[in-house]
Amino acid sequence: MPALEILARDADTRARAGVLTTAHGAVRTPAFVPLATKATVKGLLPHEVRDLGYDMVLGNTFHLFLDPGDERIAGFGGLHDFMGWDHPIITDSGGFQVFSMGHGAVADEIKGKSAQGHDRLGKVISIKEEGVSFRSYLDGSTKFIGPETSMQIQANLGSDICLVFDECTPFHVDRDYTERSTERTHRWLERCMAWHGEHGPADQLVYAISQGGVYEDLRKQSTEVIAASGTAGIAIGGSLGEHKEQMYEVVDWATSVLGGEHEHKPRHLLGIGEVDDLVRGVELGIDTFDCAMPTRLGRHGVALVPEPTKRWRVDLTAGKFKDDHAPIMEGCPCPACALGLSRGYLRYLVHSRELTGMRLLTIHNLAFIQRVMQDLRDAILAGTLAETARALRGGASPGTTAPPPPVPA
Ligand SMILES: [Zn+2]
Repeated sequence: MPALEILARDADTRARAGVLTTAHGAVRTPAFVPLATKATVKGLLPHEVRDLGYDMVLGNTFHLFLDPGDERIAGFGGLHDFMGWDHPIITDSGGFQVFSMGHGAVADEIKGKSAQGHDRLGKVISIKEEGVSFRSYLDGSTKFIGPETSMQIQANLGSDICLVFDECTPFHVDRDYTERSTERTHRWLERCMAWHGEHGPADQLVYAISQGGVYEDLRKQSTEVIAASGTAGIAIGGSLGEHKEQMYEVVDWATSVLGGEHEHKPRHLLGIGEVDDLVRGVELGIDTFDCAMPTRLGRHGVALVPEPTKRWRVDLTAGKFKDDHAPIMEGCPCPACALGLSRGYLRYLVHSRELTGMRLLTIHNLAFIQRVMQDLRDAILAGTLAETARALRGGASPGTTAPPPPVPA
């Protein structure tokens, strides 16, 4: 049985709404997946994430492998028990972090990551067919991750969805390199599946990762190869281009070859989560997204607001908010807005590095993104996606742009 049940399709785009079934329950799609990189959604308790409406979080293989170690986490009964989250978890393969060290941070540009990527992560010693050796950023010790290691780590973590180990190419590499790298990623896919078939948890879903960079033929070819490989789902990774329009084009190429017999394979777009990208991604047929943006912005004093010309952001650290008595936004159900806490107060909390400020803004931002996704899902189910997409792009408040879902009988 396919993992994704499609409940409704949009008539004009590739958008679909459905339910993704995992060993730890259902994920209502399309969905945003908050990052629990180091076994916690930073600053939040599991029930708070759940109460915001999120079904799934993303754990990071690379970081958890280095500290506290996947075997130690297995000793605690796996990542769900370790972090107290009894709902679906997806883990990445570690490929993105490992290759960010080697390729520099160029791949990070479109994804909004810091420019110091490789210093923060460690240093690559060698990239070979076998896998990647690198120096740990924690203690300088030599570590190795290859396809089998990555699957082993994710088996120990016990995630509901694991990703195969891939080479994540940055934007600046040429077509020739991209082609060779994509071929290696496909060989690694075979090795990941062989390992998982023999040793992996039977109820863990495997997602292959589409590569091919920004080259149409390579991207389509890679997506076709991985779709035919027999994995439960598909993630779209690697270089998605240097600007949004190019990213949409790359995603369009990938999902264009995923119809027919591959229709029921869930599709995850890696590392993308700005409001306009979520709307477009859903239209292009993406089911799940993950991104550091809402949580990281929150920790740095930036709140999400329905203002497209400002990239849906307001930087509350600015001095002009010192005496601003208004809440972050009207009609938001998050604690900060519901209590009517002022922008002036939140600015002060953020400025003085008070944990409460980081927490409140993280919760506000996750509440904002969840309402965007809820609106998109409700609209697909109601057959009104075009109106909702137009409203969200135009700066309407999420939570107001779609008809309420039908009451279950
Ligand atoms: Zn709020």
